[in-house]
Amino acid sequence: MFREYTDKKEKVFVLRGIVEIRIPKERYEELSRRYSKEYIISFSEEKRVLHRITRRELVFVTKESGIPLLGHSAFGIIDRGTNLLQVRCITGCNLNCIFCSVDEGVLSKTRKTDYIVDPDYMLDVLAEVAEFKGENLEVHLDGQGEPALYPYLEYFVEKVWKIKNVKVVSIQTNGLVFSEDRIDALENYITRVNLSISALDEELAKKLHGKNYPIKKVLEVAEAIANSNMDLLIAPVWVPGYNDAEIPKIIEFALNIGAGKRYPPLGIQKYIPYKFGRKAGRRISFDEFYKKLSELEKEFGVKLILKPEDFGIEKRPRIFNPFKKGDVEKGKIVAEGRMHGEKLVVARDRSVAVYTDKNVGDYVDFEVVSAKDGIIVGVER
Ligand code: SF4
Repeated sequence: MFREYTDKKEKVFVLRGIVEIRIPKERYEELSRRYSKEYIISFSEEKRVLHRITRRELVFVTKESGIPLLGHSAFGIIDRGTNLLQVRCITGCNLNCIFCSVDEGVLSKTRKTDYIVDPDYMLDVLAEVAEFKGENLEVHLDGQGEPALYPYLEYFVEKVWKIKNVKVVSIQTNGLVFSEDRIDALENYITRVNLSISALDEELAKKLHGKNYPIKKVLEVAEAIANSNMDLLIAPVWVPGYNDAEIPKIIEFALNIGAGKRYPPLGIQKYIPYKFGRKAGRRISFDEFYKKLSELEKEFGVKLILKPEDFGIEKRPRIFNPFKKGDVEKGKIVAEGRMHGEKLVVARDRSVAVYTDKNVGDYVDFEVVSAKDGIIVGVER
C-alpha cells in the first residue's frame, strides 16, 4: 500500500501513489526503534504531508478531523438545488491547462493547499444528504483538479451504489490516469465519464495542456470508454483564438467512436475567464457561443446546446444553509486554506474559507461575504 525511500533529509512514504509523508530522517530513526511504520506515519507530529503531484500541503479530511463536508468549494459535497450532487474527494491536477478556471496543477500561482477526503467519511455524509434529497440522484465526481487521482476511487464508486436514492454516478476527468485495467474495474460502477478533450492536433493540444500532454493516449482512453459499459461524453473547452478549428474535428471524433449511448455525446463548454483562473483566448458572448453551437448542430446533426433535462436533472429542495451573506460569526481555524491568504475555518457545522492572517488553532471573527449554493466564504472582521 505504501512505497518508501530516504532522501538527504527525510524518510519518505508514498501512500497509494498520491499522499507523500515526509519525516525528518533523525526523528524517524529515533521513532523506528520503538514504533511500527504504520504507527509513525499516523501519529508522528513531526511530518509534512504533501500531494505528490502538486507538491502542496495535503490535508487529510477525516471524520476525526472534525472538518465538515459541507460549505467548501474545494472538497466535500455541493448541492446547487437539483438532484445532482457534486462530490469532491480530492483537489490537485496532473495538468496545467492554460485556460484552467481553478488555476490548477503544479504551476498554480493561487492555490496553496490540497485536500483529500476519507472515502468512508464521504460515503456516510453523502448517505445523509441523499436521504434528504430524495430519489433519482446523480452523484457527480468533479472538483478543483483531476477527480480520477483519488486513490480510493474504485472503492468509493462501488460503495456509493449502496446509498439509497443514487441512480447515476458520473465523473469529470482529463483521462490521463485511465488505463484498460482501470476502465475494466470502473465500468460497472460509473454510468458516464465526461472526458475533456479540447484539441486533436498534437501540437495545439500540448499548447493548451502542457508539453507532456499525451493526446494519443487520451484518444485511446476515449475509445476504450466508449466501448465499455460506461457512457462517454466528450467535453471540450472552446477557447476562441486557440481551438476554433478543432471543435468540428472533436465532434466528428466523438460521433465516430460512439460516444453518447444514453446521454448526449458532447458537452462543449464556453471558456470563461475567472478572477482566480488562468486567462487565455478571446472572451466571447453567450450569444456568439450559442450561435456557433447552433451552426455546428445543423452541420453534424447532433444536439450540442444542452439543457439539464438532457441529463435527467431537475430542481429539488436544498440542504439547509446555516449562513447568509452579511452574517457575522466566530470560528476555529482548523487547517491552511485552499488559496494564499485564506484559512479553513469550522463554524455552525460548515467548512468556511476565510480570508485571514491568523494561524491554525486560532479563533477568528468573520463576516460572510458569499453563501451561494451553500458554499461559504468569509473575511476576518
Ligand atoms: S482544466 Fe481541468 S485538467 Fe486542466 S489543469 Fe484545470 S483541472 Fe486540470
